[in-house]
Amino acid sequence: MSLSLFDTRRDAVHAFEPIGGRPIGLYVCGVTPYDTGHLGHAFTFVSFDVLHRYLRYLGHEVTYVQNLTDVDDDMLRRARELGEDYLELGNRHLTTFLTEMASLNWLPPTHYPRATQHTGQMQELIARLLERGHAYAAAGHVYFEVDSDPRYGELSKLPRDAMLPIANERGNIPEMPGKRNPLDFVLWQPSAPDEPQWPSPWGPGRPGWHIECSAMSMAYLGEQFEIHGGGADLIFPHHESEIAQSEGATGKRPFVRHWMHAGMLRYRGEKMSKSLGNLVLVRELLASFPGDAVRHYLVSHHYGDEVEYEEADLEASALQSARLRQACRRAEELEPMGSTLTDPATLAPAVAEHRARFLAAMDNDLDTPAALPELHALAAICNSADDGPLAAQAGWMVRELGARILGLRLVTVPSAREAEAPVAA
Ligand SMILES: [Zn+2]
Repeated sequence: MSLSLFDTRRDAVHAFEPIGGRPIGLYVCGVTPYDTGHLGHAFTFVSFDVLHRYLRYLGHEVTYVQNLTDVDDDMLRRARELGEDYLELGNRHLTTFLTEMASLNWLPPTHYPRATQHTGQMQELIARLLERGHAYAAAGHVYFEVDSDPRYGELSKLPRDAMLPIANERGNIPEMPGKRNPLDFVLWQPSAPDEPQWPSPWGPGRPGWHIECSAMSMAYLGEQFEIHGGGADLIFPHHESEIAQSEGATGKRPFVRHWMHAGMLRYRGEKMSKSLGNLVLVRELLASFPGDAVRHYLVSHHYGDEVEYEEADLEASALQSARLRQACRRAEELEPMGSTLTDPATLAPAVAEHRARFLAAMDNDLDTPAALPELHALAAICNSADDGPLAAQAGWMVRELGARILGLRLVTVPSAREAEAPVAA
């Protein structure tokens, strides 16, 4: 079997085929660093971390780009409310985000561009869109003309009349001056007096949100690449608009082969959101649970599913990840240098079978909920087998698949806190 991945645009799982001749391009829309991270963010970024790790496990080179939306309406509004410089606000939240993601054993991206560092590329794209008749300048703004793209809607599958209310909820301002259609979205706009501005052919101002990601992804991955990800709430209008801009500017289709979207988290029956006050914060969970417990909980769900958070499930994951760790510890005691035991050519049939099923599940659009029981079956063999060599092999396989692919730490040495516990004099 080989890897198949869902593509939101084609609305089906398709064989994954790299473009070839260079590393695989993976772009994930990152955070707008103006607020504290919640479990929904962690689900998105851990899901793409598993994809990143699995591609590498399969032997691919990957260029993973995740952006920082450090200038947009939300950033500037929050900075104004707090009376703080927007870049300082962004840096403060970025540090927290990176610390939390490190606790979740997230592999940092190859490139982590900031929107404020790429306004030149954004302007180049806007100029190309104007030239090719997909954009127009009006009243100091430049807008993308949605009616110039008959395919607008093919990602989200939304009919035109359903688009406007959703776009308006997610940042669109229908009555902006000079718009031909309320759905036309901003590429460039004048800045308010207290906002940052960059010189441009259309007057000083700042970019619209969607053009930021088209410019940053193309800057690092070229005009066409393999995988673009983000949370499902970015499908419309953000990613729909990214496709329209990118293909409109280059004339090349498809901009991206696989659009992959992580499901939304729900808590107490509603989508987790700041306005509903039902956020589960990553830092609060990490104060009570090890990173491995949170990560195990997240990968026990398929990345594309909507997840209803229950603390009891996280508690169960804490116990289950401890069992995996216990197997790794037993394997190390039995065979301290046992990483060679996982050579596929020398596996015991039971270990080979669980490994094959684990990998088949991963190949099937990263079906981690189906892969995880295979890992636990291996841990059960390790923890119960009287046969030392079999137990060691199963335990080392838990480490190989659990750590390298699912990104669990499975550390068997005492934690820093345990190690620093006072010793009797
Ligand atoms: Zn984006």
